[in-house]
Amino acid sequence: MTSYTSPKTTLTKSPEPDNGRPRILIIYTGGTIGMIENPDTRALEPFNMRHLLDNVPKIKLLDLELESMEFDNPIDSSSMEPSHWQDIARVIEANYNDYDGFVVLHGTDTMAYTASALSFMLENLDKPVIITGSQLPIGDVRTDGEENLITALQVASARDSEGRHMVREVAILFEDYLWRGNRSTKHSSDNFNAFSSDNYPALASFGLGIHFNREALLAPKPKGPLKVHYDIDTNVMVIDLFPGIQENVVRHMMETPGIKGIVLKTFGAGNGPSHPWFIRLLEETTKRGVVIVNVTQCSNGSVNPELYSAGIGISRAGVLSGRDLTSEACVTKLMHLLGSGEKLDHIKHLMSTSLCGEMT
Ligand code: ASP
Repeated sequence: MTSYTSPKTTLTKSPEPDNGRPRILIIYTGGTIGMIENPDTRALEPFNMRHLLDNVPKIKLLDLELESMEFDNPIDSSSMEPSHWQDIARVIEANYNDYDGFVVLHGTDTMAYTASALSFMLENLDKPVIITGSQLPIGDVRTDGEENLITALQVASARDSEGRHMVREVAILFEDYLWRGNRSTKHSSDNFNAFSSDNYPALASFGLGIHFNREALLAPKPKGPLKVHYDIDTNVMVIDLFPGIQENVVRHMMETPGIKGIVLKTFGAGNGPSHPWFIRLLEETTKRGVVIVNVTQCSNGSVNPELYSAGIGISRAGVLSGRDLTSEACVTKLMHLLGSGEKLDHIKHLMSTSLCGEMT
């Protein structure tokens, strides 16, 4: 597990700690935003926080009190593990009362998984957790990282007219938009607008000003102080259907020893092959107590397995409807619920219930 040092990079130090300036904690995990080119291989490698912040001198102009902490070894987010989610959550929990908001700097590749996982792990969250990164390193002349970081800090410190935090959930900020974290997907490896949320509107858009979409923002009513759920069960898998998928392949996957949850990515409105072997395998697997959730391969729209007979067989085999969950949210929700130690029926019930705005 990656360990943290205590906050070590103080960017702006308030002369009077209680002067009312918003306090934001930046948590740097790695990703392109902080990478520089290795002179030997010319490949991009993560660098440290100092490099990142030295490249954004404008940050000092913000009327904020900023502190930052970083992973001991910043990583390319392709190496992100649930233990890193636990690390990020631990930092947020330890510093929750001392900061108005948190900005997590993260690689784009698995950002949607981290955002989804954190949304489930941070129960009673009532402050902004804004995750951002960039497509080009912060030292690049055309970088998108500078703008993303500055806007993330502004969003994390925004309050409404009643003095409440404007954002009280885990969100992804990228280029022109703020998206709900557990509704987001990385949809471009090239475009500066790298993320989309095809089943839920933007929480904010950025032009000359920052335009919050008040109706779309979560308005949580915490039932108590922040409660972090650290337990995660990684015995899950994703099965992506395709025409011609063979029985031995599906059987092999569904009979993987120890598997407890399966995200079944189906065609269109939740359909799959009507071969008797397929339905039989699904039935056998759900009867063994494995939670199978049906999500669509389409980026927009919901699973509606009752629409076609090709979907009815799947739901009669005990497969749950994931409705309009993203694959990232479905995987991490399964990990979170299976890790909770709850009874199977309750896990199934919660899997079909929106916990923090992840499904319609
Ligand atoms: N491979 C990088 C990462 O996810 C890509 C990025 O940051 O955009 O860490």
